[in-house]
Amino acid sequence: MNIFQLFKNIRPFVKPYRVLVAVTLVLTLIGSLMQQVNAIVLDRTVDAINGLLGTDFTWAAASRILIIISVVLLGKEILSALITFAQSYFGERMRIFVSRDLAQAVIEKVLTFRMSYFNCDANATGKLQARIDQGVSSLSRTVQNFFVDLLPLFTTAALALILMFAANVYVGLVAMGIVPIYFWITYRQAKRLKGWRREMRAHLETKSQGIKNIIDSINVIKSFNREEIEAGKQLAIQNAVTENQLKTRRVSFYYNGVKSFVKQVGTVLVIILTAYLVLSGYPGMSIGKIMYHVMLFSNVIAPITQLQRIFDDVNDALIYAEGFFDMLNSDSEIEPSGKYRPEKIQGRFELKDVDFTYPNGTQALFGVNMVIEPGKITALVGLSGAGKSTVVNLLDKFYEPQKGTITLDGVDLCEYDTRFLRENIGLVLQKNHIFDGTIEENIRYGKPDATFEEVVEAAKKSYIYDQIMELPGQFQGKASDLSGGQQQRIAIARMFLKNPPVIFLDEPTASLDAIATEQIKNSIDAIKKDRTVIIISHSISQIIDSEVIYALQHGRVEQSGHPDEVYKMGGIYKDIIDASARSLNIEKIARTLEG
Ligand code: ADP
Repeated sequence: MNIFQLFKNIRPFVKPYRVLVAVTLVLTLIGSLMQQVNAIVLDRTVDAINGLLGTDFTWAAASRILIIISVVLLGKEILSALITFAQSYFGERMRIFVSRDLAQAVIEKVLTFRMSYFNCDANATGKLQARIDQGVSSLSRTVQNFFVDLLPLFTTAALALILMFAANVYVGLVAMGIVPIYFWITYRQAKRLKGWRREMRAHLETKSQGIKNIIDSINVIKSFNREEIEAGKQLAIQNAVTENQLKTRRVSFYYNGVKSFVKQVGTVLVIILTAYLVLSGYPGMSIGKIMYHVMLFSNVIAPITQLQRIFDDVNDALIYAEGFFDMLNSDSEIEPSGKYRPEKIQGRFELKDVDFTYPNGTQALFGVNMVIEPGKITALVGLSGAGKSTVVNLLDKFYEPQKGTITLDGVDLCEYDTRFLRENIGLVLQKNHIFDGTIEENIRYGKPDATFEEVVEAAKKSYIYDQIMELPGQFQGKASDLSGGQQQRIAIARMFLKNPPVIFLDEPTASLDAIATEQIKNSIDAIKKDRTVIIISHSISQIIDSEVIYALQHGRVEQSGHPDEVYKMGGIYKDIIDASARSLNIEKIARTLEG
């Protein structure tokens, strides 16, 4: 990204605050112009006092000079303090607003992205988070730089130069000769640092991801006593960051030293030249001009030093903006959606010759054919990794197949309005997500405008109501404090509240105890009427209760039909059922029950 593209990209975010920008800019401009006052006052003072020296001056005349100086300088400082306050306050306000808008815009955008975006390694949670945080902070700083700081800096430098030229052309030329040298060094510095800065961005993303991984797996790390190994993994990235910082600092200090030297050389030249002109009686050159020129030269150089900071910030922004605006402008990642919104969904899915490969290259489905009838429970059976969840992912339009078609009620899934489709599908996963918030809020997620009575009703249907009422906070208790099995039933309550015609259950009772499993089984039986239900389960009881099974192996449908008939045929389905029965120790259980 170059500076013009950066400017174009951030402009829309600044537009709503143009009044704030204008006010801040004017104030900054006045503030920076006022900086010239010191030089002018000092010039006049030195000349006035010099004029008095060697004459029979009265103390009354001297006091008058001193009083005028005091009033002008103090008055200027008071005004300056007020302006600085207002300018900082308005500038900061704008920066805060812009950074809020940038963050919100990128979050809203990311929410529209398709599933494969989040599955990609480059977009892992910690990395995305770092990209957003660093993007927002460096871009909002750039907004301040571009729209508020830049113009006054140039104006101050230009005005100081004009004043120098007005006082004396030669001194003006010396000052003007130093400026390009200073600029050139600044440019070289930024250029040398650019690659390292880019490297730093990647390091920071990796670092953030590393910390996230540690927190996510803290119980495993602790249970295996692998704290040192994890710390060791982080050390590598810390060292990379440190090395990068040291290199960057070393180069910065070197260039800063050179610039400081050039500035001093400039100052010395200005002093010598002015002193020479004063001594040789050059018209208009008084002793006060020595101070005057030195101060003006400093006013020329100071803004340019500031420009260095802006240069650095903008370079950072150019690097961070790439990742940030890639996200904000990447419409190709937006989840596709059709327009089709039928009155009612019957719930007949048909997969024809479907191939699917995940973004990382793993092919999960090979020529899958399936018909899923409404009003029936269809079970997907197969060993772990067979592709069962992948089928559900495709039916929920989280991904699109590379080959083959998927239809719902005879219409291609691509044509459906994605939001409408998901509104009509209830998805319960093995591990369901509980959001930060109360139990009531978590159930209500299934239907945001539900009444409290509806929430209670859903809790009753998913057999969690009694347990909720025993908790100290009841429905207002924190949902994240519930046990895994209880959270699972919150997720099922959510689905009851949503009440969709199509239900996908991906190992819904895997983390439930036997009593809860039985209760849930009853409620699933109760809601399956007139709905399409797909269940993925390793639980024999749920499988043999279904009306149709599809047995998958290595991404292919191996067998299908009524469970009893498929069992009789022998093959993978029989193997799985037999193994499950053996693992359940059914014979012994039967004997125990008889006894
Ligand atoms: P099942 O539900 O039958 O256990 P899945 O449908 O989850 O199996 O997985 C099928 C295959 O796809 C497996 O090889 C698995 O590693 C792979 N897979 C699943 N999810 C992803 C993903 N998000 N990215 C890449 N590969 C995946």
